[in-house]
Amino acid sequence: MHADLKHYGHFIGGQEQEPGARVWLPTENPYTGQAWAMIARGDAADADAAVRSARAAFDGEWGALMPSERGRLMRRFADLLIRDAARIAEIEQRDNGKLAAEVVSQTRYVGDYFHYYAGLADKIESRVLPTDKKGVFAYTRHIPKGVIGIITPWNSPLTLTSWKLAPALAAGCTAVIKPSEYTSASMIEVAALFMEAGFPAGTVNVITGLGSEVGEALVIHPDVAHIGFTGGEIGWRIYELAARSRKTVTLELGGKSPNIVFDDADLDQAVKGVVSGIFAATGQSCQAGSRLLVQDTIKDVFLEKLIAFASSARMGDPASMDTQIAPVATRPQFEKILSYIELGKAEGATIVMGGHARPDLGPQFIEPTIFTNVRNDMRIAQEEIFGPVLCVIPFKDEDEALQIGNDTRFGLAGGVWTQNLKRAMRMTEGLHAGTVYVNNYRATSFTSPFGGFKDSGIGRESGPEAVHEYLETKTVWLSSDLDVPNPFIRR
Ligand code: NAD
Repeated sequence: MHADLKHYGHFIGGQEQEPGARVWLPTENPYTGQAWAMIARGDAADADAAVRSARAAFDGEWGALMPSERGRLMRRFADLLIRDAARIAEIEQRDNGKLAAEVVSQTRYVGDYFHYYAGLADKIESRVLPTDKKGVFAYTRHIPKGVIGIITPWNSPLTLTSWKLAPALAAGCTAVIKPSEYTSASMIEVAALFMEAGFPAGTVNVITGLGSEVGEALVIHPDVAHIGFTGGEIGWRIYELAARSRKTVTLELGGKSPNIVFDDADLDQAVKGVVSGIFAATGQSCQAGSRLLVQDTIKDVFLEKLIAFASSARMGDPASMDTQIAPVATRPQFEKILSYIELGKAEGATIVMGGHARPDLGPQFIEPTIFTNVRNDMRIAQEEIFGPVLCVIPFKDEDEALQIGNDTRFGLAGGVWTQNLKRAMRMTEGLHAGTVYVNNYRATSFTSPFGGFKDSGIGRESGPEAVHEYLETKTVWLSSDLDVPNPFIRR
């Protein structure tokens, strides 16, 4: 079956390779529901081969490069990616069903991401340490950790990979990437560009297949130093497995972020921000503003404006530049979202917009859906749905907005809509979240750290700090005094 489809192998040691066990998985177009290519279904032996290849590059040619040479190669790769952005975006778009308009701009931005970190490769500075001792001199050195395992989800495959890979390469590490089994093709295509740019073979390797098979084998591999993971709850299992094999981790997990609208906000702008927060990317965004907290004085007028704006959104073929709402990326996710819509009804919430699948448009379309009469302790308000489902919860004042906004086990993001600067400052201080947006929502940049409080994750990606996730600090003590003082006492 599927013998006529394109087959994407693993990318190990600078070339595409068939999986050792010769087993393949179909990858589907969410708009049509049809398989369009096959990816390798890797196993522990494939993971081991990829890690060995990455280790050999780290101990060999890549590890021997000067930081400025690493930066030069990264810039070359970035230019090639920008050159090929339209072609690669088309592949990623076909695989995850996201809007073409968004995938094209995201793919170009991945190139910009690499340019930014290329510039940091030769700017990793150490410190001379004040020692408070005579005759000794101490300084720090920052040493690349080694082989980095990168595990990513399906919603923004290349973007979320670059958040880890670009700083890891700038730090001097090598990598083995395990993309989502739903969206692996674009990463295999991109891997070839590293070779065209002149990277030593083995610096960047890609293995594909199921998380429980090849993903877990990567996590427990003894020669992997750090795991950079974006995904769901499984991240906490990865944390435990990584601890057992003494690895460090960065985890970017889910959220249930509040988007908070006060009655002094510019309501038309706030409507756009709320829509972008929950219906862009069909709600499949980790920082989705999935709880709308609206001040009770404007609840009805705001809802009216919101429904008028959101209900005009065009659903359809995501490859068309006119489409605004794309299908859901995977069949299990489609079913999960519909089950949460049923749960919301059973919990007593009221649907005021949407609420249905749209089989007339394709196999995985769900209408943008708004629930009112939601209490914050309902499961639809506490659990991440990762789809176009908005829970509306009214509040009276700032204190209540903060109490409801923070009453969640997550802490990834939060939005505040107000024209009162003092209020905005109080809210940004009070919200327990890794990112707070004021009068905008969903922005990210290579310049700004991103990550979560509480169950939303560990560590930060992006910004100059991200390079340090991939570095060990070594302290060197140099003594100019050859006469070692009393050897039985530590000074
Ligand atoms: P997922 O957790 O199911 O899968 C993510 C990746 O982990 C995939 O590559 C998968 O194959 C792999 N995996 C699964 N089990 C594994 C295991 N036992 N060992 C090693 N790897 C394993 O997530 P998903 O369904 O692909 O993506 C949706 C989730 O990702 C949502 O919960 C969302 O919040 C989260 N997400 C978070 C961010 C963020 O930056 N915080 C961004 C995007 C998505």
